[in-house]
Amino acid sequence: MASFCELARLCDALSQTASRLQRVRLVADFLSALSPQEAEIAARFLAGRTVAQGDDARLKLSVRAVWKVAAELVAGAAPDEGIFETAADFGEAVEILMRMRGEPSGTPLTLLDVERGFEAISVIEGRAARQAKLAGLRELFARSSSLEGKLLARIVVGEMRQGVGEGLIVEAVASMTARPIAEVQRAFMLEGDVGRLARAARQGSLTLAPTTGLLSRPRPLRPMLAQPAPDVAQAFALLNRPFALEHKLDGARVQIHRFGDEVKIFSRRLNEVTRSLPEVAAMMRERLKDDGVIMDGEVIALGVDGRPRSFQDLMRRFGRVRDVDRLLREQPTALFLFDLMARDGRLLVDMPYHSRWDSLSEVAQRANLTLARRIIPGSVEEAEAFFEDAIAAGYEGVMAKALDSIYTPGARGGGWLKIKRAHTLDLVVVAADWGYGRRRGWLSNYHLAARGESPGELLEVGKTFKGPSDEEFEAITEQLLALKRDEQDGTVFVRPELVVEVAYSDVQRSPRYPCGFALRFARVVRVREDKTVSDVDTVATIAQRFAEQSTPAMIRRG
Ligand code: AMP
Repeated sequence: MASFCELARLCDALSQTASRLQRVRLVADFLSALSPQEAEIAARFLAGRTVAQGDDARLKLSVRAVWKVAAELVAGAAPDEGIFETAADFGEAVEILMRMRGEPSGTPLTLLDVERGFEAISVIEGRAARQAKLAGLRELFARSSSLEGKLLARIVVGEMRQGVGEGLIVEAVASMTARPIAEVQRAFMLEGDVGRLARAARQGSLTLAPTTGLLSRPRPLRPMLAQPAPDVAQAFALLNRPFALEHKLDGARVQIHRFGDEVKIFSRRLNEVTRSLPEVAAMMRERLKDDGVIMDGEVIALGVDGRPRSFQDLMRRFGRVRDVDRLLREQPTALFLFDLMARDGRLLVDMPYHSRWDSLSEVAQRANLTLARRIIPGSVEEAEAFFEDAIAAGYEGVMAKALDSIYTPGARGGGWLKIKRAHTLDLVVVAADWGYGRRRGWLSNYHLAARGESPGELLEVGKTFKGPSDEEFEAITEQLLALKRDEQDGTVFVRPELVVEVAYSDVQRSPRYPCGFALRFARVVRVREDKTVSDVDTVATIAQRFAEQSTPAMIRRG
């Protein structure tokens, strides 16, 4: 049984090793010595995850909760907040704090103990949930040494600080199985989770030739992502090969799996949402004639007039178990399908999009399901007319998809472009100011950041207090406080996790912001619960928008 302490020692060694190659070696050697089950847990913890990607469970424990639990263990010593000033990060602060207690006696924690502990915490729901969750966490900390406490704290808050991302784990798996990185990268896309990848590697069952292997049960695939493009005319230049345009529906991405009697629906973040969308699940069970299928689509909320409603109306249903029945009555939905990733248990991801679409059309026709509206434009005029048609019908814009593009799970493959009318960007909130006047008691002025060039780099591009309703301000305040890192002079600094879609009038040059740009008249359109910081737009996109703004569309087209 591998001890949690060995993983904690590995993490310490990793944080002191500058060479990437050497870090890959360390991780590969460590995983190779574990059983498949332990390798799964270790890989997941190394990536800063408490549960598998695709798992609905969340610990829902804030930085504050972790600190409280660790501090309570240090009998007699007042939890000294001053530690934060000397420590390099939160994990180290917990380690310093726990050293004051001395090392625990009793049986050491195994990897499995910690995994079980997390699982038990994540399933706690209901009124007394917070106390019960804290008690669960306390049990783990009580059995931890200071070094283990540091690792526990880091995993729970998701800040590992050791330079091991999912990419490095993929390389380690390639090294331990003596496979080319591209092949393992591919297997990772299909597994959708580093833990499952490491387990498969230890079992010798990596899905390396996906198109020949048969799938037998629902297992979420990472969804293919799109790159932004300024307008439809640009799609011709950017794709430079035949493509289709589809309506871009403004709802929630769903991945629908049907294997035998089993129907499962996953969200964009691979959380299972079957119970939030019972009508969609029932429709699949009743109507689908095909088996072993994985479909990609968008569920939208409909108003009484049959027109699409706001995305927020729909998201209320996600992640909810109670009240679904009432919302089902009050909020009808419509499903539009746009891709087919498996049929008869065979993965179709390597087939070109036009063949997948043909196959999808057959499946949909047999089951009387609706596809996203689509054309293959013969000219820029035809493409523009389709775009205007989408906007007039109340949709968000269009997607342009190269006919020969394969489905690249989890990646912006370049085969898909998204084209919207509104100038919006997905940005992450890195800090917020306490409001005053009517907004007293709420965090109301949000500091927004885009992704920079190097991994993990975030650069501020603007602030705004416009957009949210009173109710939303209250909810956002609560969410941000759970992510709080620090507070200074009325500004709360938070972990960068809350993604918001922001509308703006134009991009300006700005010497005040380190990236050199700022957004004018920024306004929060909505919180993107379905997105994480890795989905946030880049400074390069903002620079491109700036360049486009200064060039009239007519010139760009030519
Ligand atoms: P965005 O959320 O702005 O990054 O745009 C990409 C999202 O658009 C996808 O994740 C889907 O949820 C959504 N979408 C709507 N209609 C389509 C479509 N026809 N094809 C692909 N994605 C679509």
